[in-house]
Amino acid sequence: MEMSKPNVAILGLGIMGAGMAGRLLSANFPLAVYNRNGEKSRPFAASGAFVAATPREAASRAQIIISMVSNDDASREVWLGENGALAGAAPNSLLIESSTLSGGWIHELAAKASEEGCRFLDAPVTGTKPHAASGELVFLVGGSADAVEAARPVFSVMGRETIHLGPVGSGALMKLINNFICGVQAASFAEGLSLIDAGGLDRAKALSILTGGAPGSGIVKRVADRVAANDFAPNFALRWMAKDLSYAIAEGSGKKISLQTAAAALSMFQRGIAEGHGDEDFSAVAKTSPSRAHSQV
Ligand code: NAP
Repeated sequence: MEMSKPNVAILGLGIMGAGMAGRLLSANFPLAVYNRNGEKSRPFAASGAFVAATPREAASRAQIIISMVSNDDASREVWLGENGALAGAAPNSLLIESSTLSGGWIHELAAKASEEGCRFLDAPVTGTKPHAASGELVFLVGGSADAVEAARPVFSVMGRETIHLGPVGSGALMKLINNFICGVQAASFAEGLSLIDAGGLDRAKALSILTGGAPGSGIVKRVADRVAANDFAPNFALRWMAKDLSYAIAEGSGKKISLQTAAAALSMFQRGIAEGHGDEDFSAVAKTSPSRAHSQV
């Protein structure tokens, strides 16, 4: 006989949260959803989710509460804002922050959760829109082993792997390291592309050499495919890659490490935002105009 499933709440039905909520519904978890813009909640009501008017209401109906929102400010709003989830969470409920956030905020949030007698995990993910929709995310988790075990039934329907990295903050740190290296590779690919074009090389041949050779990492291949298809519909918005680079830089500063490649990449992503590509896929960094060097005489 199947064991009864815990009630779950998902806060944030953006690109990633929508896929995760869909997985939980397909696996028959009783689900409450909240999204700031109520339009995005509607399809979930039709699929059997309870649509909450506030994060507090969603949390009050759940034993496991998962947040998947954009950045530190959004996370602060859904957990601690007026009618935030923490006010609705029963003692001993399990709070899971799956957004990619700064270590500083994760520690602050974990302390607030503990004051309310709740358990807390930081559990950001690798994988993107299709992986969220198909339950193939990888959860990078920080927190106690007990809490990880309690979360396993939900992680296993949303992801293909759960990696427990250590205490609270470990998942967030690992995710920022992962994404800053992705951001740097995407930015260096974009500069390479500028040089390919400026030098009059055949783009198709050049991309095939790069993707088939040593530089052809997963991320470089993804960006090259988007460039070849001229398709920049967002799986992961460019503005969130800039956010991740800036959080990684702050994380480095806190540890007296200057992430210089991340800083260079960040300036390219910021230029991408300034040029109107912030809501496109991060691979649109390849469309960003190159920095202009002064030639030496
Ligand atoms: P997204 O599509 O832009 O969705 C962002 C979500 O945050 C929306 O539900 C949005 O609500 C909500 N939000 C923003 N500000 C808010 C506020 N002040 N109060 C309440 N809700 C707020 O982003 P996403 O791609 O799903 O990414 C979500 C998180 O996962 C980010 O931290 C991202 O870095 C991380 N991540 C993304 C990917 C990816 O490939 N997309 C992969 C791994 C990790 P509205 O709908 O009302 O705007």
